[in-house]
Order: sequence, then C-alpha cells, then structure tokens
Amino acid sequence: MKRRDFLTAAAAATGAIAALSSPVTRLQAAPSDQRDKAKMRMCSQIRGWIPGKNAVEKMAQMKKWGMEAVEADGNVVNNPKEFKKKADDAGLAVSVICWGACDGEPCSADPEESKKGIDKIKQALDAAAVLECNGVIYVPAFNKHQARIGRTHQEIRKSLIDIAPDTREVKSGFLKEVGDYAAALKTNIILEPLNRKEAWFLRQIGDAASICRDCRSEGVKTMGDFYHMFYEEVCDMAAFLAGGKFVKHVHFGCGNRRVLPGQDPEGHNDFTTGFRGLKYIGYQDFMSFECSCLGGDDKGAVEVPKTLEFLRKCWEEA
Ligand code: MG
Repeated sequence: MKRRDFLTAAAAATGAIAALSSPVTRLQAAPSDQRDKAKMRMCSQIRGWIPGKNAVEKMAQMKKWGMEAVEADGNVVNNPKEFKKKADDAGLAVSVICWGACDGEPCSADPEESKKGIDKIKQALDAAAVLECNGVIYVPAFNKHQARIGRTHQEIRKSLIDIAPDTREVKSGFLKEVGDYAAALKTNIILEPLNRKEAWFLRQIGDAASICRDCRSEGVKTMGDFYHMFYEEVCDMAAFLAGGKFVKHVHFGCGNRRVLPGQDPEGHNDFTTGFRGLKYIGYQDFMSFECSCLGGDDKGAVEVPKTLEFLRKCWEEA
C-alpha cells in the first residue's frame, strides 16, 4: 500500500471508530478562548479582619470596599432566611455556603451513615436555594475522617461516581443524584480540592473536574482555592484550564501562611498566571477571601484595600 493510500485508509478507519464510539466522546472542559466574557467579582467570608462589630456592619464594610457578595458558613443551614435578609439589606449577593465534609459521612462505608450524610447535603442544598446562591462547597474526605470513612482512595472515588469506561453508564455513586437534586434547585454541589496536609483524596482541580465530567449532571461543579493550589498545582493557569466550565467558585489565600494576597513576602501564588486561566475559561462567578490578615485582624482596614488593588492589577495584567 502506498503511503497516501495508507493514510486515507487510516483516516477512514479513525472516522469509523469515532462514529462507533460517539457515546464516549470526551467532554471538553475548556473548549475555546472565552476571555471576552470573564469578570472579576469580589466576595469574602465574614472574617475577623473586616471592621465591624457584627455581620451586618461587616457586610456594610464589604459593600464599601466594592465587593459584590458574601460567603456563608455551614451554620447558615439552620436559618438561611435571616442570612439572606442581612445580605439583601447590605446590597450583597450570597455566593456559596462553605459547608465542608459532614464528618465524612456521605462517603462512609457504612450505608446508614452514608445515607444520613447524603440527606444532610440535600438539606444544605435546600438552604442554598433559599439563599439563591451558586452552591454548597463539599469536601469528600479530610485526612482526619479517614478512619471513620473506612474506605481507600479508589473506593471513595467509586462512592462518589463510577462509570463504565465504554458506555459511561453510572455503575455506582451518589454524586449524580445529588447533582441532579442541586440542579433542580438551580444551585450546585461544589467539590473543593485541598492540599495533602488536609486531604489525601481530591487535591487537584483537574481531578475534581474529571469527577464532574463523569457525573454528567448540571449540578456538579468544582472550585480552586489558591492556598491549596500553592501546594498541589504545578501551574495555576493550567489548573483552571483543566477545570474549565466546571469551575464555579474561587477562594483567595496566599502562600504558606494563608494570608491576604500580596501580603506574604516569603512565597505566594502567581495570581496573574492563575487569573490568566480564569480569564481564558470566561470565569464570571465569585472570588472569595478565605484567609487571615498578616499582622492581625486590626490591620484589616489598611491591608484589605491594598490587597484589592494588588488583585485588580494582577487581573488587568493577566
Ligand atoms: Mg477553601
């Protein structure tokens, strides 16, 4: 066979294989350059370094700084309406609920424990719907829950989602069901990768995105926390590109000491590079502070405007 004939035959065979295997076509997380859509929208958890005696005063200060949203903690599940009213009064949206792991219950090897945990995730999603927020941040397995969960890394992955590689049929896992539940409420379950000091399972955005992809549910998303990414990602831009359309939230924390971005002179993330990835995927959701203030809480009034200016400069340069 001549080389040209061989190439023609090979191309035809490749096409035939592609047609046969169309059900398993890979989803592209970041299909193209979306930079014209990207927006920087600031948000924060209610931290000690925000001046104010209570949540109401702190939210008012956040609004003055130009933030658009406030991030709730897990306690909000008990009374989401009260928190929503405070945010509304301050002119802030609610970004997400930083909920956590539920002591590892959902991924537990004990079916009863697992069911209890899954029900609690759904309660948190109900609260997220009241808050009209983007979702519930969920960490499947902290290191401290390893004994309680009683499962290996591979088993935890299967407890979330396991699919047949050829047909992509779901073989096991609760996450698609939870994602569909979230989507029906117009919100999301958001997987947060952590660094190895806190979690042995799920440490990189690309890994979390592959779980989102396997679920094929509109309500399963992931996020990037710059502090954890500092330890685990080789390149923050590549990490966000790998996450692509599944990236629904961002946390700020800088370097080893998890302080306000720009504060740590001994080592900090290259925020410009990370933002370049977020811009490329057309990121429009919130970026929220989950960190402390170097020098103490009473330095917040001076340090936060500096960090906001630093981040806006990085965004412009990205
Ligand atoms: Mg975080």
